[in-house]
Amino acid sequence: MAKIEIAIDRVFEDTYRHKGLRKKLVESLREKGISDENVLDAINKVPRHFFLDTALDEIAYEDRSFSIDADQTISHPYTVAFQSQLLEVKPNQIVLEIGTGSMYQGAILAAMGAKVITIERQKKLYDKTKFFPLVKEYPQTSIRFFLGDGFEGLPNYAPFDKIIITCGAPFIPPKLIHQLKAGGKMVVPLAQDEHHKMIRITKNEDGSLTEESFSDFSFVPMLRGINK
Ligand code: SAH
Repeated sequence: MAKIEIAIDRVFEDTYRHKGLRKKLVESLREKGISDENVLDAINKVPRHFFLDTALDEIAYEDRSFSIDADQTISHPYTVAFQSQLLEVKPNQIVLEIGTGSMYQGAILAAMGAKVITIERQKKLYDKTKFFPLVKEYPQTSIRFFLGDGFEGLPNYAPFDKIIITCGAPFIPPKLIHQLKAGGKMVVPLAQDEHHKMIRITKNEDGSLTEESFSDFSFVPMLRGINK
């Protein structure tokens, strides 16, 4: 594996206390209805506090969202778990993620065995996550980073087994449907009134689409273009 040389201005430490808090978080997600053991195992493995400011170290395992750079947010662990569960990721599947953000969701999918390709429109977040230190639980080799507009997807890397949108979409982006494999699934929070309705779209073998609707969530908006 290629070693990436970067200047890290903080020490990443995963203590017994962090591990204990993570176990509690997993139990609380189980109580809230998350039942996919692969998802729960990934949440248990991936140190969420690595993706947050060190000042938030003690509260990183509460089921809440936090602000990250560029006025964006890292989603609630429940939201991450819910979307990951709907995606039904199998090892080695190629997953396109729209909205890298802190990279926590991407790391969870990588820990589940997916090959993650992630797009972010905020250059500041892209620059930060692209050089995230190598951690053995989610090798950098299984996450590829792109600065771009998620509405466009990545036609050169399509088709994808799964697509996950982690920002509130005003509509289901047609180009992403096009880039989804037959038999693939896309999970998208779709803007509806004040909230986002979690939608899962399955592209059937004959190209037709099946749409399922789940509960309401709250996301930052999916916006057009790149913010340099
Ligand atoms: N998956 C992230 C969630 C971050 S919030 C995490 O685990 O932390 C959603 C992210 O989507 C934000 O960083 C926002 O900048 C990004 N985003 C919004 N519109 C986008 C678009 N059109 N293309 C790519 N990323 C987009």
